[in-house]
Amino acid sequence: MAIGNGRIRRRFTRDPRGTRYEIVGPTTDGRRVGVICRLKATGKVLLSMYAYGECHVCGEQLVARRVKQDFWVKGKLIVIEDVPAGMCPQCGEKVVRAEVGRRIAVLIEKSRSQQKVRKISVPVFSFARKTA
Ligand SMILES: [Zn+2]
Repeated sequence: MAIGNGRIRRRFTRDPRGTRYEIVGPTTDGRRVGVICRLKATGKVLLSMYAYGECHVCGEQLVARRVKQDFWVKGKLIVIEDVPAGMCPQCGEKVVRAEVGRRIAVLIEKSRSQQKVRKISVPVFSFARKTA
């Protein structure tokens, strides 16, 4: 999901609860994900993502799944497992409920101070450099 390196695609200014933004960006495996977020008066960012239903990309019915999701936050990669999400069987788009989005935001916020957490290492390739 696109947090940190996403870009704002749409702005909803007519919502009485406050201006909402749709942020869209690529995940590390090349898919595109959209997130709805709202800026509260306190300066906190509230995430509320699409409800399950039809895929907003291709129209297919979303299926409830537990997914592993990666987030790039300020140049650091964070992986969150067992996220309840709606997944599109056709195009792979993933969406989560507002409550799940809020918990993800909390986990990401906490991740800075978490030392005792399982770590994985991943291979990094440069597109420009030829591999043998
Ligand atoms: Zn789809």
